[in-house]
Amino acid sequence: MPSSPFGLYLHIPFCRQRCDFCAFYLEIYHESRAETFVRSLMHEIGLSAQQYVTASRPIQSVYFGGGTPTTLAAAQLTAILSEVRKHFTLTSDCEITVEAHPSTISDQDLVQLYQSGFTRMSFGAESMEDGDLARIGRPGAVSETVTAVSQAKAAGFTNINLDLMYGLPDQSLVSWKRTMAHCLTLEPTHLSAYALTVEEDTRLASNIQRQQSPAPDEGLQIAMDEATQRMLGDAGYERYEVSNYAKPGYACRHNLLYWTNGEYLGFGPSAQSYLDGIRFGNVADLAAYNTSLAASRLPIEDRTRLSEEEQLRDTVIFGLRLIRGIPSQHLHQHAANYGHATITEELLAQQLLEEDGERSRLTARGLLQADTIAGQLY
Ligand code: SF4
Repeated sequence: MPSSPFGLYLHIPFCRQRCDFCAFYLEIYHESRAETFVRSLMHEIGLSAQQYVTASRPIQSVYFGGGTPTTLAAAQLTAILSEVRKHFTLTSDCEITVEAHPSTISDQDLVQLYQSGFTRMSFGAESMEDGDLARIGRPGAVSETVTAVSQAKAAGFTNINLDLMYGLPDQSLVSWKRTMAHCLTLEPTHLSAYALTVEEDTRLASNIQRQQSPAPDEGLQIAMDEATQRMLGDAGYERYEVSNYAKPGYACRHNLLYWTNGEYLGFGPSAQSYLDGIRFGNVADLAAYNTSLAASRLPIEDRTRLSEEEQLRDTVIFGLRLIRGIPSQHLHQHAANYGHATITEELLAQQLLEEDGERSRLTARGLLQADTIAGQLY
């Protein structure tokens, strides 16, 4: 019997500086910190493989995220991937993604990453207008995104994602459409387009509070989302998740693993894992992470065993983000488990949710309220 999909996530916690909107756990990059971290991470990979006896279970996706993984040298990323291969069995068509900030990577780095087996580049473009980047405190320039994509293609990468955000301070519908049109000229295979959200305790939140920056306009974000669907649809991209679009055959396998509530192991500070019905997470502190691994202890801080009902709840909540939706029997079983039958009927009556007998999915209007609906069905 083929084993169910299984993936690895490696969290590289460094960035050169913090963007104004970012609330993620991260550390500012220093070379010596990075060297110690890479040693700890390699140790964690080996220890984890021993502990979870998953070495014989084929890995279908490996994802280097952050932070900014490409703050590390290409040689360090390559060494980490070799360590993964040493302890785990990767399928022959394993998707191996690395996230990159366009200004932290050179053409030689891209050649080295491609030759060492990375198969997918994910560039954090965010906008194709320099003014937008400046207004969110995002380092780098649009010209660096253009160069990085062309160098990635020259290095051999055929699977390239661009991350974009809309609803940025002072961004208009016209300038958002310009950003998308410019992206389309780069011909990525995948585009992620997220609405800007204002997280607490970020520089953006305090700028808004001091009226130095406008708060996101929900109506404008909805118009931008609709424009995204139209423009990317017309250009041959299939929307397969609330915020994700891909050319046929290029949906991100690793992210699909999360949205189908599949299993994965996470490495690095703050990384989360899900295996055998247990969610567990690493300590979100680099010093504590290093200390734990120096003592050959896995740096796991939280561990929660999910009941069968909770596992089904997560399958429903994550799966409703997918355009194809979920089996209707899952939705109705979950509604029965959690007393959500009335809410489910209301969502159907309001045409935020639809059913075709076998599958249930959010409608176009429902997708605009995906987070709220997820909260109601939790
Ligand atoms: S590059 Fe990404 S992880 Fe780093 S500060 Fe900016 S948004 Fe946050």
